[in-house]
Amino acid sequence: MNNKFIPLSVPNLKGRELEYVTRAVETEWVSTGGPYVTEFENKTAEYVKAKGAVSCQNGTSGLHISLMLCGVTNNDEVIVPALTFIAAVNPVKYIGAEPIFMDCDDSLTIDPDKLLEFCEGECSFIDGKLINNTTKKHIKAIIIVHVFGNMADMIKIMDIADKFNLKVIEDATEAIGTYYTSGKYEGKYAGTIGDVGVYSFNGNKIITTGGGGMIVSNNEELLKKAKHLTTQAKVDVVYFIHDEIGYNYRMTNLQAALGLAQLEQLEKFIEVKKQNYYLYKEKLEKVPGLEILNFREDIRSNYWFYALKCSEEYRMDRDEIIKYLSSKNIQSRPIWGLINEQKPYLKNQAYNIEKAKFYLDHIVNIPCSSNLTKEDAEYVIECLN
Ligand SMILES: *Cc1c(COP(=O)(O)O)cnc(C)c1O
Repeated sequence: MNNKFIPLSVPNLKGRELEYVTRAVETEWVSTGGPYVTEFENKTAEYVKAKGAVSCQNGTSGLHISLMLCGVTNNDEVIVPALTFIAAVNPVKYIGAEPIFMDCDDSLTIDPDKLLEFCEGECSFIDGKLINNTTKKHIKAIIIVHVFGNMADMIKIMDIADKFNLKVIEDATEAIGTYYTSGKYEGKYAGTIGDVGVYSFNGNKIITTGGGGMIVSNNEELLKKAKHLTTQAKVDVVYFIHDEIGYNYRMTNLQAALGLAQLEQLEKFIEVKKQNYYLYKEKLEKVPGLEILNFREDIRSNYWFYALKCSEEYRMDRDEIIKYLSSKNIQSRPIWGLINEQKPYLKNQAYNIEKAKFYLDHIVNIPCSSNLTKEDAEYVIECLN
């Protein structure tokens, strides 16, 4: 028995983090001013090849602002996935708008065929607006989540969004570094294809600032507005004149110092995650009833989370696997409880949710940190064998 605890996904801070944070402290630039914030924004935009980036306190606040950038108001509806982390959906309610839940396909991201079926069958397109036949409300936007570092089918989704005049917000909180390697969007990064994209630098994400987020877009107007809204909507810095309700959402220089050092290592982290992914895949798929879900073929994934699928053929079910691994000092977890089944969302419309339920019951996430060693991964494999 291995006595070392193997966590699911933890920070890896062995680059220049301490050096940059120390410099932030020594220069006494610890708050929302300071050179690291702008530098981290610029470097992130450059890395994902976006026109610009605006930092924020976390991914959740980035999504909140993104909905405002897309003009979503308290009279509107927004299409969201049923299978995701609840932070992708809560901001819809912060605005006072209502979510409509959509199923996933085998990629765990929104099923574009069902999405089209819903838009054509359950809605009317009147004067350039997609109107929900059930509620008579305007569906203004869709939030796409690039689950576990996979890419949603952006080709089909953008076509549907164009056809029905929907704004597209990419929740790329789990997918910084993922990009298309071929096809219409070749070279395009997750988060930069829709109207606006959001990354998260929470502690469990592939790179971390402790807590933090980033809004990216190719639309200069939206970027300007994002900066305005995240910094209290101040129009005159001397006399403190504000022209709308703003938010105190800007990242601090301390967070950005960490972020900058993390971003320098992102490609290295992806390489380690990729190696461990293929090690798990090769060894675990020899076990009857176990499978590691694939990432889309036409992308380079960031390999953030590994999804182990267990079928009835395997000797344990989802909960038994989690319990067993825990007894072996290995942390694992099921995917999130479906959002449409959570207390605050029971009254919201959910369109034909099938696959999300299946995957919820059959997937276990297994250790995937960028500092997971080959020996650790082999121990996990041995336990599951
Ligand atoms: C992490 C995450 C968020 C929220 O990011 P925070 O930085 O924790 O606010 C939103 N959506 C998804 C899918 C996430 O995984």
